[in-house]
Amino acid sequence: MNPKGILLVISAPSGAGKSTLIRMLCRDYPGFGFSVSYTTRKPRENEVHGKDYFFVQKDEFQGLIAKNFFAEWAEVHGNFYGTPARQVLESIQEGRSLIMDVDIQGARQIKNNLQQGAYIFIFPPSLDDLRQRLMHRGSDTAGAVEKRLQNAAGEMLKSDFFDYWLVNDDLDSSYARLKAIVLAEMQRPFIRPDLARKIASGVHYDS
Ligand code: 5GP
Repeated sequence: MNPKGILLVISAPSGAGKSTLIRMLCRDYPGFGFSVSYTTRKPRENEVHGKDYFFVQKDEFQGLIAKNFFAEWAEVHGNFYGTPARQVLESIQEGRSLIMDVDIQGARQIKNNLQQGAYIFIFPPSLDDLRQRLMHRGSDTAGAVEKRLQNAAGEMLKSDFFDYWLVNDDLDSSYARLKAIVLAEMQRPFIRPDLARKIASGVHYDS
């Protein structure tokens, strides 16, 4: 029996460094899939249709909602975002690991619907630090930065349903802690359901 996959659902306020950490995970675990969402937001420079997101118009997105195409969807900062249900179901059925980058509303919906997965919320070390990172990124006006900070504080206060809280203070240390979560998840019995039977029957089991 092949090992089964883990589902990692990762949320963070924008600017907390989530995308960088996810990129590092995808690099170190090339077998993990990344769930590519649909969005009505305009592509940023360097974003690739089909890799970062599927960029669609609002009416197309609404049509997909009506067809139950999404495992979850939400409106975030005035744009719509949704996870195609097929990607998630296929990964689970085929035993592949999958990383999902969704906002806190999406994480809650997935947790309610699937009752599986590891839910990780990433915090910046402080609101001041987040402000610096957002300003440094330069893609928002000062007013928009303050709005994002307000949203971030609201999300943090609603993050108690996550299984793990990770404070992204130093990238290397945060990544080491994220990897520790992944490694722990990979030791769960459902990942290798044949392990007990094999070892108990005398087989040498290679981890
Ligand atoms: P951004 O526009 O910066 O790429 O993403 C904005 C927010 O939307 C982030 O918090 C991101 O996690 C969230 N997001 C991205 N894809 C999805 C999705 O499919 N569903 C939900 N609920 N949120 C998403």
